[in-house]
Amino acid sequence: ALSIGIVGLPNVGKSTLFNALTSNEALAANYPFATIEPNVGVVPVPDGRLEKLAAIDGAARIIPATVEFVDIAGLVAGASKGEGLGNQFLANIRETDAICQVVRYFSDPDVVHVDGKVNPSSDVETINTELILADLATVEKALPRLEKDAKRDKALALKLETARKLAEHLGEGHRARTLELSDEQRASIRDLHLLTMKPVLYVANVDEDQVTADLAEIDGCKPVPISAKVESDLAELDPEDAALFLEELGLEESGLARLAREAYALLGLQSYFTSGVQETRAWTIPIGAKAPQAAGVIHTDFERGFIKAETASYEDYVAYDGEAGCRAAGKLRQEGKEYVVKDGDVMHFKFNV
Ligand code: GDP
Repeated sequence: ALSIGIVGLPNVGKSTLFNALTSNEALAANYPFATIEPNVGVVPVPDGRLEKLAAIDGAARIIPATVEFVDIAGLVAGASKGEGLGNQFLANIRETDAICQVVRYFSDPDVVHVDGKVNPSSDVETINTELILADLATVEKALPRLEKDAKRDKALALKLETARKLAEHLGEGHRARTLELSDEQRASIRDLHLLTMKPVLYVANVDEDQVTADLAEIDGCKPVPISAKVESDLAELDPEDAALFLEELGLEESGLARLAREAYALLGLQSYFTSGVQETRAWTIPIGAKAPQAAGVIHTDFERGFIKAETASYEDYVAYDGEAGCRAAGKLRQEGKEYVVKDGDVMHFKFNV
């Protein structure tokens, strides 16, 4: 599953948001998901299309796509140097696909700010500096070994050169992501799992009346306004009351839905569906993935033995009442190996085992 590490200064609302995301009553009632470890929550990606497809096929269950949120303890200035909680807690988020940085925008005077005042851009800078320093420590730790090994193994020359470039870049206070690298160079240092190489989503934890605000860019990105407080209230409501509450706030969807959508966009992901009497299910693939690669997400055998995919768009599947109706109307396409899967495609794979 897609995984996202949550970072941010202490007291900005990370735990509140994490708990709201992972304890949502309405979602829990529909989907059998839970927190696997105290700091890891698997959250279904809300997608109204699943219910429609399941109704058409009389599916016994719905399996949504999921996002795994990984929470870390509060990151404080100096953490990368072993002060505060030390560097080891950053290990929790090393292998995530993206980072979600929660930034305090809410003004509640009862909640102490670590720096004494609410200042989003300075908070972002503090966190980013810590992540850069943590990455610099990772690269500097790897370098001596790499220099030694590269003498024996010529294949490591590229990795060594890239690591040296990175050390310089990080040392100048830049994120790894902003260093221009070739695909080969990028691949060579993948196993360092650098935090600042990951795409970042900024979540602005705003006051209740700011949830629909259009916020100024921070660090070149539009933050996603979410109220952790609203989300934690929403999490306790049944679906009808939650819908009413959202309407009152002028929102069309919960913060979780927005967050999942933004994360998909950030990472260039989309969903396709499989549907039948047993289950209706969403599968996550990169935009641009071809049919065999999409099949491979279900099972590697499906990719290896791929023959073709009977495919209907979500709109046709609904309009013609399922696969049989689409077939009768000539809306069920036979797609081959080169087919580029589209968001919402309902697919039925034929394969050799
Ligand atoms: P963390 O240290 O980043 O995990 O922060 P917490 O989630 O523990 O929140 C710190 C404090 O801020 C708690 O007392 C929360 O109740 C409060 N808090 C969190 N989010 C909000 C919010 O959106 N609005 C307000 N007013 N308080 C919040």
